[in-house]
Amino acid sequence: MNNIAILGAGFSTSTLCYYLNEKDIKVFEKARGPGGRSSTRKVDDIGVFDHGLQYISPKDKNFSEFLKLNKSVKQWDGDFVEIDGKVSVLPPSEKLIGITGNNDFVKSNINLDQCHFKTRIEKIEYQNDHWKLIDDSSNEHLAKKIILTLPQEQTKILIKDLDLRFDIKENFMKPCFTVMLALKETPIFKYSGYVIKNNKIISWCANESSKFRDLNNKNLTLLTLQTTEEYGFANFKRYRENKEHILNETLSEFLDIFKINDSEVIHKNVHGWLYAFSENQSSEVFWDDKKFIGITGDWFTGGRAENAWINAKLLSEKINRT
Ligand SMILES: Cc1cc2nc3c(=O)[nH]c(=O)nc-3n(C[C@H](O)[C@H](O)[C@H](O)COP(=O)(O)OP(=O)(O)OC[C@H]3O[C@@H](n4cnc5c(N)ncnc54)[C@H](O)[C@@H]3O)c2cc1C
Repeated sequence: MNNIAILGAGFSTSTLCYYLNEKDIKVFEKARGPGGRSSTRKVDDIGVFDHGLQYISPKDKNFSEFLKLNKSVKQWDGDFVEIDGKVSVLPPSEKLIGITGNNDFVKSNINLDQCHFKTRIEKIEYQNDHWKLIDDSSNEHLAKKIILTLPQEQTKILIKDLDLRFDIKENFMKPCFTVMLALKETPIFKYSGYVIKNNKIISWCANESSKFRDLNNKNLTLLTLQTTEEYGFANFKRYRENKEHILNETLSEFLDIFKINDSEVIHKNVHGWLYAFSENQSSEVFWDDKKFIGITGDWFTGGRAENAWINAKLLSEKINRT
């Protein structure tokens, strides 16, 4: 039996692993590796795409210091612009990214030997003085304490039969798509990032090549597009039925905005985030010091990595005092 089981291997868990005094931890993650919504997609011979979290602009001084302890974090240089009929350069601001990919933010604090990847926890049960976790292969795992770091809806499903003094707000899912593109090298993209205003489909275009990562093919221009909340919300069902349609619709809008011929595109892919962003729960993180179950995530106070850090740090402090 482990002392602590943590569900999810994203930014919240990375923070917990750093601040918890207890180190006998087992992490259960349904994906193939750590990252969660701070994930990185590597494509052979093409390069690296940050298809989740784009960058971090820390507001809190302590968060900034926490990030800078991580030696795999660097500044994303260059100018960032807004496109709204005309192009306007935005005022400079600190933008931090991972040296090899934005999952560097997460990987640094999580000991991979403590992780069970490709393991979705389907049920949790309280058994007098410990927790039983049942995974998608019907394996059972035991732990004295359990922490959930999952998006709201997934948390809600797991805790629905437990008698906890904690309610999750009904909320709207805010899905989003990210489209990853490689173009034949082009001088068009001289800025690092483009905020696209008043477009129904695309809200953001990141110039991945401006991050100068070793794995990026220097003969290509790599871009990640992010769709608007409205488009994500309206089209998630369609994405499940026909990803290609979403990919091609977004691509066609992009080609139109930047006046590019589709023969320039040599790689394209799309990723759908069902739980990209969420309603603010507006409550403090949950810790039951009798049953030893904790719940945290960015969604308690907002939808950014900084919120994930604030809340996971607060939960660690509560658990460390127990
Ligand atoms: C497209 C996109 C762009 C973003 N851009 C920014 C940005 O520029 N700046 C910023 O600060 N933030 C940004 N964010 C938000 C940021 O990514 C999140 O705030 C942060 O990554 C949340 O981390 P977390 O650990 O709380 O949750 P998550 O990263 O969602 O981690 C939860 C983990 O739990 C796993 N999981 C779920 N259910 C189970 C289960 N039953 N069993 C086991 N594992 C399970 C999931 O696979 C996931 O890995 C962005 C998010 C998206 C989607």
